[in-house]
Amino acid sequence: MIPPLIGLTTDREISNRQTRLLNVPEEYSQAVLRAGGAPVLIPIGFRSADLPELIDRLDGVILIGGGDIGPQHFHGQPHPRVGGVEPDRDELELTLVRLLVEADKPFLGICRGLQVMNVALGGTLFTDISAQKEHALRHDWYPNHPRDYLAHPVDIAAQTRLDKITGGGPLLVNSLHHQGIDVLSPHLTATAAAPDGLIEAVELPNARFGLGVQWHPEWLWTSPANQAIFQALVEAAGG
Ligand code: MN
Repeated sequence: MIPPLIGLTTDREISNRQTRLLNVPEEYSQAVLRAGGAPVLIPIGFRSADLPELIDRLDGVILIGGGDIGPQHFHGQPHPRVGGVEPDRDELELTLVRLLVEADKPFLGICRGLQVMNVALGGTLFTDISAQKEHALRHDWYPNHPRDYLAHPVDIAAQTRLDKITGGGPLLVNSLHHQGIDVLSPHLTATAAAPDGLIEAVELPNARFGLGVQWHPEWLWTSPANQAIFQALVEAAGG
């Protein structure tokens, strides 16, 4: 049997050899492989007009983490810490989310991926949590901390997809983000929150599989609850 094809979005980077790289941190690929899926790339530069056909040929998609989304996409406040904006990546991924929803194709958004889901579907972001959210915990445990550092717990709402997948919270997670959801998209349900109230997971109700998490489960795969997220995506993609 051919394993479910899971498209992974890509990041762009200039290497120290002056080469332009489209990359996917290996942890995402390993998490998909471990779950029985076959990871394939959705490169920045892929024509938006061809996305519907690509989506048709994929069984599922993961929107990976990365830099910030251009604040103009959600009327966000300018902030000096906004960084790593890749306009063509934003364009591609925002279109991708809308098409995935339309096609009811299983997908998972991780970190930036959750933020892309929210913005694509009409929500907004704090462009810097520590500057804009009152009584916020520290969420930006990077770059000088191990990426699997367990920074804070999340509470998981009962009877949600995430609750069923993980077996319920509280779940200790890593936290490698300085932005987060401010106004939630009317199409999404918040299904996990940090102790400061920040939304840490969202779901698309009634979809085959539409889940976003603000943390990085691919770095926490030795925890069964986190690897189960990839397992659930691949299962939905294969169904
Ligand atoms: Mn966090």
